Amino acid sequence: MITQTLAERLAAIQAGIAAAATASGRSPADIRLIGVSKTHPASSIAELAALGIHDLGENRVQEADAKRAELDATHPALRWHLIGHLQTNKARKAALLFDMIHSVDSLRLAEALNRHAAERPAPLPVLLQVNVSGEASKDGFALAHWQHTSAIAEPFVAEVAQIAALPHLRIHGLMTIAPYTDEPGAARATFHSTRLLRDTLAAQVPHAGWHELSMGMTDDYADAIAEGATFIRIGRALFGERPRNMG
Ligand SMILES: *Cc1c(COP(=O)(O)O)cnc(C)c1O
Repeated sequence: MITQTLAERLAAIQAGIAAAATASGRSPADIRLIGVSKTHPASSIAELAALGIHDLGENRVQEADAKRAELDATHPALRWHLIGHLQTNKARKAALLFDMIHSVDSLRLAEALNRHAAERPAPLPVLLQVNVSGEASKDGFALAHWQHTSAIAEPFVAEVAQIAALPHLRIHGLMTIAPYTDEPGAARATFHSTRLLRDTLAAQVPHAGWHELSMGMTDDYADAIAEGATFIRIGRALFGERPRNMG
């Protein structure tokens, strides 16, 4: 049962972001909060926008499309981020609907998005979603043990170079989801590995952009900030628990 207002919950998260940033010598201004509005109505997004948060995370193309249709006229400054798995057959709609896609997890999907992004006025900003923990339930390029296994790292770097060459996409960095576990330090290890992977890609595919690290959710955003997150994706701590089985 959440008794606080949205403004109070947002203030608590912003204090948490500031504390985590300061603790690791970073500026809170370098960390952008994405309000994960999946399952919540357009009215919740309008309420968040009135408090100054204009980045929204959605995990379903259809749902985001409906909310954008409701909000575009009154809230043209909102930035819509796709954070959920994307099927190739929805690539066209996604390429035209979203301001950034965090969940590019295959060369095939990147190529499909690239074809449709040609219809946009400017290239489509994307992040590559990586699964460095090896958790079976996670989407993303499968990269467990990439640091010690050149048979994993090398083909990945080659695919990334192909994605970086697609003219209608712009890579901005990486996205990851930490494993669901109570094991202390597991989330932080995932974020650390993701940051090292970003640094490796920045050296090996230098003509792409590698500034952004989208990592950290309600339960683990402080660890993500300590490891360099530039986008954190917060749902429950802002909007409360979601209905079950709805992402
Ligand atoms: C739902 C979701 C979030 C938000 O998670 P919370 O635990 O509610 O903060 C962040 N990222 C992704 C990819 C999600 O699917």
